[in-house]
Amino acid sequence: MGAAVHSLTQAKAYRAIQACKTPKPRRRTERMLERTRAVVEELTGVNPTKSAIWMSLRRRKAATLTQKFCAYAWRSLHEGYKLGRYWDNIDGLRNDRMPCLECEAPVESMDHILRECRVSGQETVWKLAKEIWAETGLEWPYVTVETVLGVGLLTVKDENGKVLKGRTRLLQILISESAHLIWCLRCEWRIGRGRDLSQLHTEPEIRNRLRAAVSKRLRIDWALANKQAYGRKALNARVVEATWYKVASGRESIRSDLVAPGVLVGSASSRRPRGRNR
Ligand SMILES: [Zn+2]
Repeated sequence: MGAAVHSLTQAKAYRAIQACKTPKPRRRTERMLERTRAVVEELTGVNPTKSAIWMSLRRRKAATLTQKFCAYAWRSLHEGYKLGRYWDNIDGLRNDRMPCLECEAPVESMDHILRECRVSGQETVWKLAKEIWAETGLEWPYVTVETVLGVGLLTVKDENGKVLKGRTRLLQILISESAHLIWCLRCEWRIGRGRDLSQLHTEPEIRNRLRAAVSKRLRIDWALANKQAYGRKALNARVVEATWYKVASGRESIRSDLVAPGVLVGSASSRRPRGRNR
């Protein structure tokens, strides 16, 4: 920009154009993308393109993934969180990786936080997610960080290979909400609770958090299925019904914030009062 034409040589112009080209893809992002593609292929039989993975986090089809989850997954795909290997890039700290001190794990990666960590609440979160999913009678997939990042492309099929829309949505909702909750719990404890081992989130606390997150999704689903309010943009009520079939007992359950007794029960205090004050 701003070069005088009479002094511009071909070599200079070429260099300037080269400099403007899109930056090289980052090695770590590429690696994470490749691994995510492989896992999605293993679970669905379809090998998605790289852009399909990015787009699955951008388009947020059928209100399945929340904006918060997509921002988290987007950043994780870039390995944008200051975890473990991040410090490799900083001079002087080259060999000083961030371990997970609590677990004595050499590197605190997102995969460690989601699957192994003893202080992120992951064990309790996944246990409850599987319990909810068990109501569907279908198999729960093996979940790693790649499954979480490619969750928007996962599908659930029946024995004839036909995609079950409702079940696909439920699985995507459960995996994305669980992963995001684990990440939130880890940050809350490390930052908000000063890594105090006596202040770890308790099992009932964690279970209530996931129940609340899933119940909220159920309520939003039915709200978005309102044709009068959203017209053609409304969610398909049949798909919403199929999503929560067996897991929640229909529209009735939303009113009382009760979701499938014994599976997802909202706390009494969060129920709306009856009658006039509702
Ligand atoms: Zn850990």
